[in-house]
Amino acid sequence: MIMASSLIAPTSTSFLQSKKDIGLFASSSRHRCHKPASRRICCSIAAPHQAQRQPSTTGSVKTAMTMTEKIFARNSEKSYLSPGDNVWVNVDILMTHDVCGPGSIGIFKREFGENAKVWDREKLIIIPDHYIFTNDERANRNVDILRDFCHEQNIKYFYDIKDLSNFKANPDYKGVCHVALAQEGHCRPGEVLLGTDSHTCTAGAFGQFATGIGNTDAGFVLGAGKLLLKVPPTLRFVMDGELPPYLLAKDLILQTIGEISVAGATYKSMEFVGSTIESLNMEERMTLCNMAVEAGGKNGIVPADSTTFKYLEGKTSVPYEPVYSDPQASFLSEYRFDVSKMEPLVAKPHSPDNRALARECKDVKIDRVYIGSCTGGKTEDFMAVAKVFLAAGKKVKVPTFLVPATQKVWVDLYSIPVPGSGGKTCSQIFEEAGCDTPASPSCGACLGGPKDTYARLNEPKVCVSTTNRNFPGRMGHKEGEIYLASPYTAAASALTGFVTDPREFLQ
Ligand code: SF4
Repeated sequence: MIMASSLIAPTSTSFLQSKKDIGLFASSSRHRCHKPASRRICCSIAAPHQAQRQPSTTGSVKTAMTMTEKIFARNSEKSYLSPGDNVWVNVDILMTHDVCGPGSIGIFKREFGENAKVWDREKLIIIPDHYIFTNDERANRNVDILRDFCHEQNIKYFYDIKDLSNFKANPDYKGVCHVALAQEGHCRPGEVLLGTDSHTCTAGAFGQFATGIGNTDAGFVLGAGKLLLKVPPTLRFVMDGELPPYLLAKDLILQTIGEISVAGATYKSMEFVGSTIESLNMEERMTLCNMAVEAGGKNGIVPADSTTFKYLEGKTSVPYEPVYSDPQASFLSEYRFDVSKMEPLVAKPHSPDNRALARECKDVKIDRVYIGSCTGGKTEDFMAVAKVFLAAGKKVKVPTFLVPATQKVWVDLYSIPVPGSGGKTCSQIFEEAGCDTPASPSCGACLGGPKDTYARLNEPKVCVSTTNRNFPGRMGHKEGEIYLASPYTAAASALTGFVTDPREFLQ
């Protein structure tokens, strides 16, 4: 049995369907839970009567709403919205990349005209990142199409790559879009960020509404700067307690997805709050929100706080205004976690909700370990891997591939001392442990990619990976087996050649 003690499953939902319902319930009772770790589900079952409602914490919005509802309301110029409302939402940022950009551009030109201009040249961010370091001509051509379009449209933020033989010769090149968006200051509290990639939800870590859209929708946004969207109801995940030193945010999200399943949050907002969430740094919050889509979530979101504001210092000059869920806001369900009781987890093949304790899989022999992607290829992820190698003082027993998400992460690996190492950098520790040299930053083998992609699963291997999906074929070979894990668990597994609980090396 898995982790039954750490999470309370919800009872029936309490989502109110109409204003009539709200008024009726408000006049009778209103339930709110104040126990931090009750064994029952805690839900706000009704919004209060209109006359009793407190002003919202920000802006012109004066009715109790969740933070996602507030962002929808502000960007659609409404004073109040309920889940299920369909509204035209003004888009603050649209992101696209080399896989979906060409298709989105084609739709934009077909529908708005060959000579049409995008709605705002400073709100479109174009990031080649997926199929970059390859000789595949069609993949290379996709980047050329992006470049031509950006020149034609005078796009301000195009993170180009021309010299594929040496990524460092491309000062504009960043790497994986979701990490680059954050590092370049494009993720801001209270805004709407859409992207042609399902893991656009990563940016919810900044207290903004961020979600993935298809090429057709993106083509429309390119011309109109807005999109018709349905307001999602919100699931609230309250995580309290001190995070044990052998757990990371990846464990928290694997626990969550394992609990509610890959369809458990379909078209719902996943709001993460609680003392544990407040203690997480921005990169860990990004890991959490990144995998909201693996539960079907429309978005993941974390309230902005001093950690957020500090991260944004010096990254953006664009003014932003955070929003927060009102105390009286209605949530579809509320889940409570005591993280101090959790143990390191993996998601076994072939689904992110196929949760198991890492220690339950100790007999699973593995062929390789992959550290990378928007989920697990950030600086903090590599620091976590280095921490395990440092504590163990051993060499890896299986090939261990390291793919930094961005050029900045790559630089960090070679320049930031790992705490407690006497001044060694990640790259030194990785070399001593016998890992492959850190590769050029990109999505790499996270989604397989062309045959010549570095670290792609070209054979039916068993891989422990810090990525976010383990569907058949995801990393290249349809018979490959992927165990999703935290950087701690992945590093521990590299040292033993089996799926390994990191407590074997960390206490
Ligand atoms: S790293 Fe993987 S999950 Fe993230 S954007 Fe790239 S392909 Fe998608």
